[in-house]
Amino acid sequence: MSTNTLSPVSGRLFVGGEWLSAREDFASKSPANLAEVVGTFPKATPKEVDAAVASARSAFPAWRRTSRILRAECFDRLAQLIKRDTDALAVLMARECGKNITECRAEVVEGLHMVQYVFGTGRQGIYGEVIASEIAEKDAFVRRKPWGVVAVITPWNFPFAVPLWMLGPSLLEGNTCVFKPSEDTPAIGQKLVELFAEAGFPAGTVNLVQGAGETGEALVKNPDVNVVCFTGSYEVGKRIQEISASMPERIVAAEMGGKNAVIVCEDARFDLAVNAGILSAFKTTGQRCVSASRIIVHEALMDRYAKAFAETAKRLKFGDPLDAKNFAGPLIHENAAKKVLDYNALAKKEGAKVLVEGSEIQPVAGAKGCFLSPFVYQMDGKGARVLREEVFGPHVALVPFKTDEDAVRIYNDTEYGLSLAVITESYRRMRFFREECEYGMGYVNLPCIGAEVHLPFGGVKKSGNGHPSAAGLIEAVTHKTAWTVNHGTDIKMAQGLTTALEGGPA
Ligand code: NAP
Repeated sequence: MSTNTLSPVSGRLFVGGEWLSAREDFASKSPANLAEVVGTFPKATPKEVDAAVASARSAFPAWRRTSRILRAECFDRLAQLIKRDTDALAVLMARECGKNITECRAEVVEGLHMVQYVFGTGRQGIYGEVIASEIAEKDAFVRRKPWGVVAVITPWNFPFAVPLWMLGPSLLEGNTCVFKPSEDTPAIGQKLVELFAEAGFPAGTVNLVQGAGETGEALVKNPDVNVVCFTGSYEVGKRIQEISASMPERIVAAEMGGKNAVIVCEDARFDLAVNAGILSAFKTTGQRCVSASRIIVHEALMDRYAKAFAETAKRLKFGDPLDAKNFAGPLIHENAAKKVLDYNALAKKEGAKVLVEGSEIQPVAGAKGCFLSPFVYQMDGKGARVLREEVFGPHVALVPFKTDEDAVRIYNDTEYGLSLAVITESYRRMRFFREECEYGMGYVNLPCIGAEVHLPFGGVKKSGNGHPSAAGLIEAVTHKTAWTVNHGTDIKMAQGLTTALEGGPA
C-alpha cells in the first residue's frame, strides 16, 4: 500500500460525549514523507481544556457508582472493536509515527492485551482485602476508591498502547479521564477515542483534547484534576511535577526517559548477545524509552562482538514504514533527527572510535523523510555525556568492562534507571547484576526492550517516580480506605483502650 493513498483524518475534540471543532487547527505529517498530511486536528484552548475537565468531573459520580464489573464489561466491547480495526489502526500508526508496520501491529495487540486485562480484572482481586483485627468481633477491610478526574498525557512513540495502559486502569477503578495525546500522533489519539465512544463508555467518562505542550500544561494547571498520569521525557515530567507541587493533594504518576544498557558477559551465547544488542539499540529506530544506547561488553569479547555488531547494523534496512520487509523507519521529526546527529558529533568530540558512521538517508523514492542510518562506536570514556544522556535514536556505544563490578559502575553512571539486560549463562552473575544495578525492568538473555501489560512498567531515578504504568497503575489511580465493622453488641477498642464512661449518664 502506498503511503499517499489514504485520505487525511479530520480530528475533533471530544467533550461530554460531543465531537467539537476548535478555532485553530494543526496538521500531523508523516515522518517518512513530510509532504504527506495524515490529518488535521483542533488545538484546544485553555477554556476548552477546562470544559473537558468539568465534563469528566460531572460524569464521575455516576461512573463511580456503576458496578466495577459493568465498567469492566465496557472494555470487552472495546476489545472486539480493536480486533475489528487492528489492521487499519496499525497502518494509520505506521503513517503517523513512522514505526514499521510489524511493530505497529504488535503495539495494537499490546493495547488489546491491556483492554483484555482490564476486562478480566473487573471480576477479581485488587479491589480490596480483608484484614485481621485485634478484636475478634471486628472485621476490618481495606477498600480502594477512585480519586476522581485523571489527566492522561502520553508520548508519540507508543501512541496506542501507552494511553490504554493509563485509561484502562483509571476507568476500571471508577475515575473519569481527560486524554491529551502527543501533538505528533493526534490521529491515533482520535481513533482510540472514537473506539471508546463506539464501545458505549458513557458521555464524559473519556474526553479528548488535542494540541501541543500548552494544551498539556493547561490540563495540568487545572486544580480539578486529581491525578496526572504522564509518560514522556524527564524535562516535561519535571515541569508537570513543579506545577503540581502547589497541589499537594494531587498524585502525579510520571514515567520518563532512559539510558538503558545491555551487559554482555564473556560467557554469553554469542549470537544471542549480538541479536539482543541490535534489537535493543535499533528497534523503533532507537526511539523506545527502553532502547539501549550502551552495550557494555566484556573486554575479552569486545573485538569479536564489535565486528559482528557493526556488520549486522550496516545490513539493517531503514525505510518505508508500510513495508514489512524493512527493519525500522524514520525519526519522528526533523528536530529529533538533528538532535541525534548532534549527539553523533558529540561522541566523536568525546573520543568515540567510530565503527559505523550515521548519516541522513532518503530511502523512500521521491519523498523527503526524517531517516538516519545507525551510528555505532566504541568508547571507554568515563563520565562522557554521550554515555550518560538519553539520545533517542539509532546511536549506540560499545563500552568495554573488565570485572562485573566495573560493568555495574558503568551501567549505573547515569541519572536514569529504566531498563537493563544481562547476557550470561551464569546464574550467580545474573543475580549480582539484578541486585546491584538501578533499573525498573530487568531482562536476562533477552533485549532490554519488550513489555507485557500484566507486569508493572516503570523506572527509578530520572526514569520514574514510583508509580509504574500498565497493571502497576491501579495503585496510583485509587486510594486505600480502611473500613472497620463491629459485629459485637458492645464496644471493644484496640490497644486495650478503656470504654468506661466515667462521669457519664447513670
Ligand atoms: P514529551 O516531549 O515529554 O511529550 C510527552 C507528552 O507531554 C506529549 O503529549 C506532550 O505534548 C506533553 N507535554 C509537553 N509539554 C508539556 C507541558 N508543559 N505540560 C504538560 N504536557 C506537556 O515526550 P515525547 O517526545 O512525546 O516522547 C519521548 C519521551 O518519552 C522519551 O524521553 C522517552 O524515553 C519517554 N517515554 C517514556 C516511557 C516510559 O514508560 N518510561 C514510555 C515511552 C516514552 P506535545 O507532544 O504536544 O509536546
